Amino acid sequence: MSIRVVGFGPGGAALRTPAAVEAIRESDVVVGYETYVAMVEDLLGGKEVVSAKMRQEVYRARVAVEMAREGKRVAVISDGDPEIFGMAPLVLEMLSRYGWRPSGLEVVPGVTAALAAGARLGAPLGSDVAFINLSPLLTPREVILRRVEAAAAADYVIAFYNPIDRGLLREALAAVARWRGGQTPVGVVKDAYRRGERVYVTTLDSVDVDAVDMRTTVIVGNSESYIWEGYIITPRGYHRKYAYP
Ligand code: SAH
Repeated sequence: MSIRVVGFGPGGAALRTPAAVEAIRESDVVVGYETYVAMVEDLLGGKEVVSAKMRQEVYRARVAVEMAREGKRVAVISDGDPEIFGMAPLVLEMLSRYGWRPSGLEVVPGVTAALAAGARLGAPLGSDVAFINLSPLLTPREVILRRVEAAAAADYVIAFYNPIDRGLLREALAAVARWRGGQTPVGVVKDAYRRGERVYVTTLDSVDVDAVDMRTTVIVGNSESYIWEGYIITPRGYHRKYAYP
């Protein structure tokens, strides 16, 4: 009788944590979006699997809670980290609605897309970062754009997830460009740590929005970020305090 919400990282087995692997192995039932279930296929031997299509998150969370109430050990899986635009908030929200706290409730963290993409790009996340979900499915466009504006004004590095609406992505990038200029570094990473991975570094003025899709994370540097040898570097501020060549 347990529910674990497990993040299995961006894709490749190398970035799964041992805790995530163990949580999936110890479960009787694995609940997840069908593409994600396929990504942990090697851990599923003999388990009951409830896979569902995209946008059936509420169904998945409800099934997970009901199966756990029947006494099963349930793992709900998310790619990356389960809190970051994943299943953890919904599962906990569902439990709070049911008013039921299972004895084995655990959220198992994972390497989120921004960290995976950031690593491929060098060190774009070297200062304060805002994670922004650009999907207008659950958040109204004006709220998204207000948050982009605020993050841009406060000079946060921004990691854009779910860039499924190209019009909204264009508007978001234009909003950031108004604050920090068109030469600001941008990293575009598709399928980080998965087969077919693609990484490219560009600037706000030159982002090829048509090449961005829902398997892509877009990281926009802050006003101090710069490009070196195909990497993006966002300084932490040591250069203001110490002298180095
Ligand atoms: N919980 C996940 C995010 C789910 S939202 C996490 O923590 O990473 C889905 C979005 O995440 C995608 O639209 C994309 O923007 C990003 N994403 C997830 N995996 C990715 C990967 N391997 N490479 C690039 N972007 C990825």
